[in-house]
Amino acid sequence: MICFGVGEGWPSEDRRHASFLYRVGRTHVLLDCGDGMSGAFKATGIEYDDVDAVFLSHMHSDHVGGFSMFVQSLWLQQRRRPLPVYAAPKAIAALKAWLDAVVLPAELIGFVIEWRPLVAGVPMTVGDLVIHAHPTRHLVSLERSFGARYPQTSFEAFSFVLEGNGFRVGHTADIGEVRDLEPLLKARPDLLICELSHVDPEPLCAVLRASPPGRIAFVHVAREHLEVPGRVEAWLRETLGPVPFMLARDGDVLSF
Ligand SMILES: [Zn+2]
Repeated sequence: MICFGVGEGWPSEDRRHASFLYRVGRTHVLLDCGDGMSGAFKATGIEYDDVDAVFLSHMHSDHVGGFSMFVQSLWLQQRRRPLPVYAAPKAIAALKAWLDAVVLPAELIGFVIEWRPLVAGVPMTVGDLVIHAHPTRHLVSLERSFGARYPQTSFEAFSFVLEGNGFRVGHTADIGEVRDLEPLLKARPDLLICELSHVDPEPLCAVLRASPPGRIAFVHVAREHLEVPGRVEAWLRETLGPVPFMLARDGDVLSF
């Protein structure tokens, strides 16, 4: 897996926004399309036709802000294969309208986008990967405040479990409460890609200690945790004890 962007929601001079490319055998799945991912993808040299599917966890710009630029890249690089894009149902309607608005209509781009609604509890098979979507509470409080006034806005958010031949990876994207981790930690994933922005690290680490994954890569780490170099690593080392972990950086390639 290649970390295209491990940044959080705030702008940063040294971290791109959330985007990850899962590469398993010949299967390539892009998970989130934060700002800056088109350049990161280009740098890999991977063929534009080799992307098998895109999964979008939720509609915050640090996760979808690079999506239309990526579609523009696919058009200019003359992709021809249909591209399945998985997102929440209301997100699909908004993304379709957005592509029309940024002058990337279906008739122009030269390939078909197959819009597929993310459904919790229904496994999705993409090549060598089976992907499960799990709803998170990331946008629940915003929905409470704004849902009635903005009925077209998607307030759904998802985490994912990706399974393949002999491995299992949990990918939190953005969560809202520590208990959002429960479905990801079942059956001990080999690797957990875990955000560190939206929940208190103390109870988060208590859950990770109680149900440890094989390894943890922290991403989306809140800027305040990084103010003092080395401080959050030292705290995590002490708090997580024997559970192996790393703080991922843009460009890191993680195996599992
Ligand atoms: Zn985010």
